[in-house]
Amino acid sequence: MNRTLCFALLLFSSAPFALTQQTTPKSAIREFLVLPQKKPAAMLAITGVRLIDGTGRGPRSDMTVLVLNGQIHAVGPSQTTVVPKDTDTVDGGGLTLLPGLMDSHFHLDSDGTLPALFLSHGVTSVRDPGAWIEAYEGVRKSKETQPRLFLAGPHIDGTQPAYPTDSTVVRDAMETRLAVKRNLDDGASVIKAYFRLPLALIEEVTRAAHARGIPVTAHLEVVDAADAIRAGIDGLEHATSVGAALLPPREAEAYRQAVLADNAARSVGRYRVWSQLDLKSERASRLLKLMVTRNVTLSPTLAVFERRDGDKDITEMHVQGFRQMVAFTGQAQGAGVRVVVGSHSSVPHAERGWAYQREMELLVEAGLTPLQAIQAGTLENAKFFRVENRLGSIEPGKQADLVLVEGDPSQDIAHMRRVWKVMIDGAWLASQ
Ligand SMILES: [Zn+2]
Repeated sequence: MNRTLCFALLLFSSAPFALTQQTTPKSAIREFLVLPQKKPAAMLAITGVRLIDGTGRGPRSDMTVLVLNGQIHAVGPSQTTVVPKDTDTVDGGGLTLLPGLMDSHFHLDSDGTLPALFLSHGVTSVRDPGAWIEAYEGVRKSKETQPRLFLAGPHIDGTQPAYPTDSTVVRDAMETRLAVKRNLDDGASVIKAYFRLPLALIEEVTRAAHARGIPVTAHLEVVDAADAIRAGIDGLEHATSVGAALLPPREAEAYRQAVLADNAARSVGRYRVWSQLDLKSERASRLLKLMVTRNVTLSPTLAVFERRDGDKDITEMHVQGFRQMVAFTGQAQGAGVRVVVGSHSSVPHAERGWAYQREMELLVEAGLTPLQAIQAGTLENAKFFRVENRLGSIEPGKQADLVLVEGDPSQDIAHMRRVWKVMIDGAWLASQ
């Protein structure tokens, strides 16, 4: 195996191909790709399969998909799609084919084997919203195939950061601009604003990142989400990021001061806040409207907040707080907000490696249809990542990241756990 070929840092300075129906502008989004396995030289086929293409379109049965040179070559009914002789073919009978899953909130947390485990469960792209790019050095040198890595660099935070080792602390506009520049020069595909960053500096972040075509996402506690949206952020990580914006001003200020005084105040404070929120308030519908108008994506990461009756050290307040986060997520989707799947990597109610599937199940509990939850994990995330010109759906010309599962996840989202085979960049994972 040729290591130079094997370990490829792909810098997509422009879209690798043009799709006639799409006019995506030149993309500045870069990814780190670790593909020690070779792409097959010949065509691959999946025949007679149920197809969920990621666009929100309903499942189509008895379909055939052809893959060539890492790209989706053809998609059509099995009856009319000709599979060339001697093509390496997978019989898709009883299986469903979906686009590779994309995770907008993946944390490595020093667990170097987790990305490959996620990949084997169908997650072909992960975005880490806040870690030094150096933290992925081990993963990038791995001899094992890895999901596409979309990295952010350390998140940009104010003084007394909650996670010092994952942060760049900035104190003024110039430091902010320089921190953003460094992350982008190092290969960041998104910038994350963290919760102690003052509003004026959030605006600096969005200005600096947008000037280079890079989106900004935020984890908020003390800055009002509506203000941050007006300052230009593109995404909100965690449903809890909108908590302060939904509270009446006096209570919001009390929560804000408590967290500013002690970062740890948020861990129980957010459940208290959420257990008391009035989701039917005028404030809530105004915020949702603003999110829709400004095209802000919500990555609710429900699974990391999941608290149920019977969990250890859990009170009714936690359970009610979580219930409201779920309800808000359904409300957001219903209002037209773009909701996406972010797994948070390890969560209380999923085995190691299955946080992504747990998040999909919770989105369905929130009121998304299984098909919408699948779309949230594929094309919607591709749009959030700004790579929808090449990833996120099964359409000719797109890069061939695919998942085969047993059963029909459009009927039962739990079938997303029945992963049968995964393809990344046009090659089946060797281990399957
Ligand atoms: Zn996180």
